[in-house]
Amino acid sequence: MVGDNYKRTLERVHKACERAGRDPSEVTLIAVSKTKPEDMLLEAYNAGAREFGENKVQELSHKMSSNILPKDIKWHMIGHLQRNKVKYIIDKVSLIHSVDSFRLAEEINIQAKKCGIIVPILIEVNAANEESKFGVSLEDAPELIRQIASELNSVRVTGLMTVAPYVVDSNENREIFHKIRDLSVDIDNEKIDNVSMENLSMGMSNDFEVAIEEGATIVRVGTDIFGERNYNI
Ligand SMILES: *Cc1c(COP(=O)(O)O)cnc(C)c1O
Repeated sequence: MVGDNYKRTLERVHKACERAGRDPSEVTLIAVSKTKPEDMLLEAYNAGAREFGENKVQELSHKMSSNILPKDIKWHMIGHLQRNKVKYIIDKVSLIHSVDSFRLAEEINIQAKKCGIIVPILIEVNAANEESKFGVSLEDAPELIRQIASELNSVRVTGLMTVAPYVVDSNENREIFHKIRDLSVDIDNEKIDNVSMENLSMGMSNDFEVAIEEGATIVRVGTDIFGERNYNI
């Protein structure tokens, strides 16, 4: 079932690309597997999934060292990250999507340096200014990016990420995705050393097709692939 869901979601990603006149190779589908057991991840893997997203360090570490999951999986940290936990995942994740403060970027930089690596990060933007959400405001994002780029040399900003509001009609989020895209173009135009805007991580089960139409290069889909999450078990 998970395998079929994955394939169907990928098909929808491709269709959305077609509608938007984009090459499907421009958009990466991340299977968001938080709270789900490893055998379900394996089903998605067997259907072709190679990029997985988790939002908790402990669960991510656990799954990354699993014996049943293949080693060519690319792991994405998409949830709020505490500074004291950075060290547990630093050399094992392919992208950290959720950097929203200089202090967090600084800690990632320290740990990256220790490992002798350069860690790609995205800046999380709270585009709708929701109080319940993490992320910097659209207004503060450029300055944060400039500061990271000028002071930290073991992290590399490679784009933006946003978690749009929960809406019934996905079109309601179009403007938000558009704003993120505009912001990425503005930042790109600044030509800041060591900064690229190649990644726009936006769109979830509810709204990934609209996000693709508005320029997403990474969509993060959980429920449509793995089913509803049950946080009570
Ligand atoms: C859980 C989660 C998703 C996936 O959400 P679905 O609605 O289940 O597709 C995407 N992004 C982030 C940051 C998440 O925490």
